Amino acid sequence: MNFDSAVDLSKAVLQPVEFPSPIPVKILMKRLDLIHPFIHGNKWFKLKYNLINAAEKGYKTLLTFGGAYSNHIYSTSAAGKEFGFNTIGLIRGEQHLPLNPTLKFANENGMLIQYVSRGDYRDKHSREFEEWIFEKFGDVYIIPEGGTNLLAINGAAGIPSLIETDYDYITTPCGTAGTISGIIGGLKGEKNILGFAVLRGADFLIKNTKKNVLDYSGNEYTNWSIILDYHFGGYAKINRELITFIREFEEINGIGLDPIYTGKMMYGIFDLALKGFFEAGQTIVALHTGGLQGIAGMEGRIKLLF
Ligand SMILES: *Cc1c(COP(=O)(O)O)cnc(C)c1O
Repeated sequence: MNFDSAVDLSKAVLQPVEFPSPIPVKILMKRLDLIHPFIHGNKWFKLKYNLINAAEKGYKTLLTFGGAYSNHIYSTSAAGKEFGFNTIGLIRGEQHLPLNPTLKFANENGMLIQYVSRGDYRDKHSREFEEWIFEKFGDVYIIPEGGTNLLAINGAAGIPSLIETDYDYITTPCGTAGTISGIIGGLKGEKNILGFAVLRGADFLIKNTKKNVLDYSGNEYTNWSIILDYHFGGYAKINRELITFIREFEEINGIGLDPIYTGKMMYGIFDLALKGFFEAGQTIVALHTGGLQGIAGMEGRIKLLF
């Protein structure tokens, strides 16, 4: 099967964007969110070689993990449907009915949803838990939480070659740091790579990235950093300032940002640019990694802020 034909990489245009006030650098958004309606953003790149590997090894079923609003669960369910795999999602926490829009979508794509207590979920990559998985579900192809493994990193390493212009920085939001690890590996020491951590206390992402890059490339590149200051209180935490910024950005550019990943990154770029972090005239390519599906689950919390 030709997995690449499912997505249209020519749709991932490089789009100049403006901010609520002028900044002395040029920002281009690489619209990875446009390559497929559901299997898009960084999640496509992280899934690609896992799908190929699973198919080559004859697996019929993909099993993966996520929270109830996970973009990774959403994309994996769509990929299963598109490429003919059964899918199983182990979802953190208890069942809430009716299903939220993410899980409803996953379920409609044929994903079997199995809830896992928070305690068990913490140990999900332990040997015992894996044995339980194989006992219960048979011979399934396991994709880790957030989709990050070496095959995912290899997929993300292909992202820089899609950028058909010269630039100084490339930026991405960081959840597990699989995507940034691949980008660093793919650039082989060229350009500067900036990650924006979307969770609090995320120093571990720096350690994980170092390890990933070494495992993947055998090199210790130093042309990257992960900025830890724009988590807005933690994973999926939001405030009025962030939501106002996202709304203004969309009004100016016609580009939707999600409050968990791309919204925090773009806010961070804007704030750093205002503070003189970049040299005047530099060009920054910001990856639009997708994730807009997750907003459906936040509308209530967003309303409460205003
Ligand atoms: C999953 C996700 C990320 C984080 O990617 P990692 O490889 O886990 O760092 C960033 N942006 C969006 C929109 C995502 O869905």
